Amino acid sequence: MSRTLWAAVVPAAGESRRFGRDKTLADAGGRPVLARTLLTLREAGVPLLLVGVGAGAAARVREALAPSGLEDVTLVEGGPTRAGTVARCLQALPPDVTHVLVHDAARPHCSPALVRRVMKAAVAGGAACAALPVVGTVHRADAAPIIAETLDRRVLWEAQTPQAFRRDLLERAHAQAAPGTDDAGMVAALGVAVHLVPGERRNAKLTFAEDLPATPALPLRIGYGHDVHRLVPGRPLVLGGVTIAHSLGLDGHSDADVLAHAVCDAVLGAAGLGDIGRHFPPGEARWKGADSLDLLRRCTALARAAGWRPAQADCLVLAERPRLALHAAAMRQNLAAALGISPQAVNVKAGTNEGMDALGREEGIAATAVAMLLPVAP
Ligand code: MG
Repeated sequence: MSRTLWAAVVPAAGESRRFGRDKTLADAGGRPVLARTLLTLREAGVPLLLVGVGAGAAARVREALAPSGLEDVTLVEGGPTRAGTVARCLQALPPDVTHVLVHDAARPHCSPALVRRVMKAAVAGGAACAALPVVGTVHRADAAPIIAETLDRRVLWEAQTPQAFRRDLLERAHAQAAPGTDDAGMVAALGVAVHLVPGERRNAKLTFAEDLPATPALPLRIGYGHDVHRLVPGRPLVLGGVTIAHSLGLDGHSDADVLAHAVCDAVLGAAGLGDIGRHFPPGEARWKGADSLDLLRRCTALARAAGWRPAQADCLVLAERPRLALHAAAMRQNLAAALGISPQAVNVKAGTNEGMDALGREEGIAATAVAMLLPVAP
């Protein structure tokens, strides 16, 4: 017998209808599900990896796998069914491959040890399938549905993957057997003995969105903003969108709302989009006298387009005069509306500079803000 050469076929061309989005590219602790699955196969010693992908999905999958060092994976355009996808991958195998492992893309928690046990069993017996003894009671029902029969669970096994086969057996199954959702079942239908290898509870298939626990990677962004404007006569004083009666107002190209500007920068900063001057250059005529709450709405839209939505903001205005505490609630309301969040998620604090420095001499007003952004719902 010549030497054994393994390849793994991973069908990932399904629509993930029950999951609600492409589950194979969903994040599982900082990597796509599919990347985790493939890295396990590699760790188990499978030299050739083939992934069956949906029509037009190859570039997206290639890009998602690259950061995990999986550039050498072969992508094959899949068929309309799982069996069709496996069949197309079989056709793409190099001629010297002797054994094929089939593994679900959506089983990222399988251990390399289980992969190796299934491979070993297939080398010894020709065909093997990871499976778990059924622990619950299983009824067969008629159409009503009413129990027609209670099955003897001592003879029941729930199939998992990996499944491993001598190449000729799997090719024959795909040529002759009725297409099914399970390759081991198709090979067994040929009359071939398929050995069951005890599987793992942790090797559950991700089927519903809740099967994927929240990623431990930080699922949020924090941004920081700071701004300062000079106080001059003959200008209105606008802070957080509230026009406040005062002998001086803030100088600037727009309405010079220093508080709204700080929040704009916090939002843009969290989304990695630079600062307010980059998006609304002070030299441009169209931003002359601009309502800064409108600028904040635009910054929020830019952040959302980049995949991040504001969830919370905290800000501080430093002004020696006038007293701002009375206006904090209205500012909060305005900023929250522009951010598209509830006023309870926005905090506005007002302080003085205790008479020190330029702010203390009432030469200007400064504001700082932090904002937290969450991913726009996938
Ligand atoms: Mg400004």
